[in-house]
Amino acid sequence: MGKSVLVVGAGLAGLAAALRLAKNGYSVHIVEKNSQPGGRLNQLKKEGFTFDTGPSFFSMSYEFKQFARDCGIDLPFRYVELDPLYTVNFSNSPKTWYLYKDIKKLAAQFEEVEPDFEEKMRRYLDKCRRIFHDTVDIVIKQNFNSLFDFGLALMRVNPVHLPILFRKFNQQVNRYFVSAEARRMVSLVAFFLGRTPFDTSAVYTLLSYTEFMHDGYYNVEGGMYGIVEGLVRELDKAGVKITCNTEITGFRGANGRLEAFTDRSGQEWSADLFLANGDAAVFRGSVMNRMAFSPEKLDRMEWTMGYLTIYLGIRRKLPHVNHHNYFLGDNFEAYARDVRINPDTLQKPYYYVNVISKYNDHCAPEGCESLFFVCPVPDLRYKPDWSDREEIAMSIISDFGKRIGQDIVPDILTKTIYTPLEWKEQFNLHRGSGLGLSHKIMQIGAFRPKNYDEEFKNLFYAGASTIPGAGLPMAIISANLAFERMTAVL
Ligand SMILES: Cc1cc2nc3c(=O)[nH]c(=O)nc-3n(C[C@H](O)[C@H](O)[C@H](O)COP(=O)(O)OP(=O)(O)OC[C@H]3O[C@@H](n4cnc5c(N)ncnc54)[C@H](O)[C@@H]3O)c2cc1C
Repeated sequence: MGKSVLVVGAGLAGLAAALRLAKNGYSVHIVEKNSQPGGRLNQLKKEGFTFDTGPSFFSMSYEFKQFARDCGIDLPFRYVELDPLYTVNFSNSPKTWYLYKDIKKLAAQFEEVEPDFEEKMRRYLDKCRRIFHDTVDIVIKQNFNSLFDFGLALMRVNPVHLPILFRKFNQQVNRYFVSAEARRMVSLVAFFLGRTPFDTSAVYTLLSYTEFMHDGYYNVEGGMYGIVEGLVRELDKAGVKITCNTEITGFRGANGRLEAFTDRSGQEWSADLFLANGDAAVFRGSVMNRMAFSPEKLDRMEWTMGYLTIYLGIRRKLPHVNHHNYFLGDNFEAYARDVRINPDTLQKPYYYVNVISKYNDHCAPEGCESLFFVCPVPDLRYKPDWSDREEIAMSIISDFGKRIGQDIVPDILTKTIYTPLEWKEQFNLHRGSGLGLSHKIMQIGAFRPKNYDEEFKNLFYAGASTIPGAGLPMAIISANLAFERMTAVL
């Protein structure tokens, strides 16, 4: 039997790392705080309805395929490409914009507001493409042993991209487009990184390339939780056990080696190697008692925004509503500047709606629909009191009814609301920040919490707040990078 590994956390990065390790002869056990695996990629079942609780689509499908190949398995879930990627609706206009991958089809909608949209979009995407291909292998899919190492890697990036480092996402987009509509729509993807186009580096315009050209977005057949179910099946076959309802709260270690983690009931979990999949900054602070990650220090770091999510089962079909939809207001710039810190933005909230039952019949009883709402909100530093959750949720649901021309309030059969309080409590997320540490330049690469421990040589980290960052494909890459580190340990 190979070396034993204890993985703390059954989020996507924990599950993927566990499978890689098991397939390479390690004896792996996973402990998870919650009652089911998946972490933020989770599932809620209620009164005949099924909801994905977090992610509703993924990009970079080839990372998942490569992961499966590396593990010697068939990809344990099936996915379908999204086209259009999503729709966008502004409150001051009845028009619905369809974000097609086909640039000609996309451009046709911009004829009146942005002349030569197609040509501009192709030029913009071409720059995004070059940023992506010039950085992905050198910066994103790499372990760094020091800041010096990271500096050397950055020096290998084509210097033509240097000015990008000094621009924000919106500034880069503004160089190509003049209309408010095109600028807003193209920069919307910055919100997927948990920040806004105004405080996200222009480096991340590479995301426009990933969504429109490189690979697009995908849904999992049967719902996103199919990814977790598939991995759990493979883990089971590989002999990996998952123990749920077990939260790690302490540790025992000596002479630079971690000997055991301790759970809330006092039980010890020992192994040769350990992998923490809980948030890499929070875990260091709350479990490893590291001063550099004390609550005050964490507050000084830059976090992604919080989310208010609503899971709604309704007694009605909504055939005219698309699968993925953004409902925005008419004050984009002011909203984006305020959304992370000012609870007043919730008076005119921007939100996303996913109709999971549209292509997954079993997710809702016959004649019904399962809806998932995501609304970006300030984290618990800026809005600690969520006693008004019901009021806010109902205002979003009513607004949605007006936008689609169908009041759904009388049709509600079940409603569940998660505020940043629930996100924090369930998954140990700092102040309820939805995606973990932000991706500002001083928090990426070697500046991000490392995927190896500062004190214990046999403790490693994988997940959104270590390298490379947030999102499902990044969790897969993070697991690979941690695996590389762990298997290099003698
Ligand atoms: C509302 C929302 C929507 C999103 N939408 C998308 C999307 O559409 N597409 C996309 O790609 N990404 C999306 N994301 C981001 C994506 O969900 C995350 O980046 C990814 O799931 C993070 O995986 P992870 O393994 O890093 O962490 P997690 O999923 O947080 O897993 C960590 C696990 O560790 C457990 N844990 C923590 N501490 C302990 C402890 N002390 N003891 C035991 N267990 C512990 C937690 O309970 C959790 O299960 C979304 C996130 C949110 C919140």
